[in-house]
Amino acid sequence: MVSYVSFPWTVLRIGMTKHGKMIAQVVLASHDHPTAQEIYQRIRESGAHISIATVYNNLKVLVEDGVLCKLSMDGAPDRYDKPTHHSHLVCARCGKLLDLPLRDLTDVLEQEVGKPILSYDLRVSYLCDECREKE
Ligand SMILES: [Zn+2]
Ligand SMILES: [Zn+2]
Repeated sequence: MVSYVSFPWTVLRIGMTKHGKMIAQVVLASHDHPTAQEIYQRIRESGAHISIATVYNNLKVLVEDGVLCKLSMDGAPDRYDKPTHHSHLVCARCGKLLDLPLRDLTDVLEQEVGKPILSYDLRVSYLCDECREKE
């Protein structure tokens, strides 16, 4: 079941297509960094008609417009996320991605780099609880 939370975000602006809005809402309302396939399934479960191709096309536009951000995964489907600065904990075994509540590191990184930076994507590799239990 998709919960359609109303966002005060300007990103859900009038110019967006109906499907674009739906897809953005699914991603912004979830905390598990869904893949295109998962977004598709959630929209279908909510009773809306959409094709997987429409999901892919809209995701591409939403990422280009900066509404969503795409997380490229090694050897796994891309995941989609909120466009805010944040860092992730990634399970090295199952690929599960959790938000890492670190403070904004832009100033630290700019000092190290010696130049203004546009963005960063910090991933900390670990083993999640379930994967550690299977050891
Ligand atoms: Zn895991
Ligand atoms: Zn995230």
